[in-house]
Amino acid sequence: MTTTCPNGFDQTQLSGFLDGELTQAADQRVRLHLEDCAACRAVSDELLRLREATMTTRLDHPRDLEWDERPRGLLSGLSRGLGWLVLAFWAAATTGFALWQLATSPEDLTAKLIVFGGLLGVGLVFVSVLVDRLRSARTDRYREVQK
Ligand SMILES: [Zn+2]
Repeated sequence: MTTTCPNGFDQTQLSGFLDGELTQAADQRVRLHLEDCAACRAVSDELLRLREATMTTRLDHPRDLEWDERPRGLLSGLSRGLGWLVLAFWAAATTGFALWQLATSPEDLTAKLIVFGGLLGVGLVFVSVLVDRLRSARTDRYREVQK
């Protein structure tokens, strides 16, 4: 702070006053002092403006991130949902077909174990991602309703 109080008031208290961190007695003292000290009023106004600017920035930031994540409109939302649905069907069909092919083929047991194990791993990861995705999609919708 560049200004100093002409009445010798401790301006470090202004920050605590704006934060509501002072005791009731100290809060009252600051309040009374601000009423008849223009210099401290100016400092307090400046602090308040800085505080509001910081708060606005802090609020805006996550909102920006959210917008980046979320589908922009009805069409992109629809196609994204459809995309996941198609992917789920594709994964199920491909896995089922591959498993059926392998199970009915004359390959030896080791090859079957390797392929089945890999597919099981991929399948589990895919299901986990899908479940998370569906859950977050539901949360997004809930959040939108709340606005
Ligand atoms: Zn003052």
